[in-house]
Amino acid sequence: MPELPEVQNFVNALNKSYAGLKIKEIQFHRENLRYPFQKKELFKIFSQGNFFQRCYREGKQMVLETSQGSVHVSLGMSGSFKPILSKSLEKHQHVSLYFENGEGLAYVDPRRFGFWIIKQEIDSETSSCDPLNKNELEILFLSEEVMQKRVTVKDLLMDQKIIGGIGNIYAVEALFHAKISPLKLCYEVSLQKWKDLAQVIPQILEQAIHLGGSSISTYRSLNGNKGSFQDVHQVYGRESQACLKNDCKGTIKRIVQKGRSTWFCSLCQKN
Ligand SMILES: [Zn+2]
Repeated sequence: MPELPEVQNFVNALNKSYAGLKIKEIQFHRENLRYPFQKKELFKIFSQGNFFQRCYREGKQMVLETSQGSVHVSLGMSGSFKPILSKSLEKHQHVSLYFENGEGLAYVDPRRFGFWIIKQEIDSETSSCDPLNKNELEILFLSEEVMQKRVTVKDLLMDQKIIGGIGNIYAVEALFHAKISPLKLCYEVSLQKWKDLAQVIPQILEQAIHLGGSSISTYRSLNGNKGSFQDVHQVYGRESQACLKNDCKGTIKRIVQKGRSTWFCSLCQKN
């Protein structure tokens, strides 16, 4: 599933390749993804002569902005953007956006959990706290509300209504780096550990953005490259392997929390 760094990489790539281009046409090759396409509105936003102004990220969603309005795009489980290089549609290509200069951009999504929705109608999946912002995270973590919560710290990190876009990979990696057990309830986490967590989350996400994200299943960047953050995963997917922290003799364990796997070192993530 594309998480924040993967989404940010598409945002950067779309801005680099397409910002400022004049739109020729948009085509939809089916009626719906997770939700039906609002075609009337989308045709207006992407009508001929409009400019593709920019793309930006809100939580794990992308916002595509033209001179006539904006659309929120969620990549869902398997969505991605690719340059259109031939006239024939590729498998699972659901949207084609063409520009006056001859270039084209495809939205491809095998599992179709993604969506394109007009900006004003969105609210549920965007949250106020940006996980790339250490100060915002610290304010959130040190708030009375969070410090008294009786949910696990892993569940807190995964709650998209509270923090937009951390997701499973980066949640387990952040807890490892901050040396916090994923089983800890929020009210059991010390002040210092919350501060550590606020510090490591943006560092890990920035590193992942820099490395092009994590390619653990189908994710490819716009130019078809795999990200390489998975090469530096410390715990994610490493069940039964040795802990990579210096001097730690622990083994990585896997447990399931709210239906998702969590990997952690039971020795250095005791607290
Ligand atoms: Zn360890």
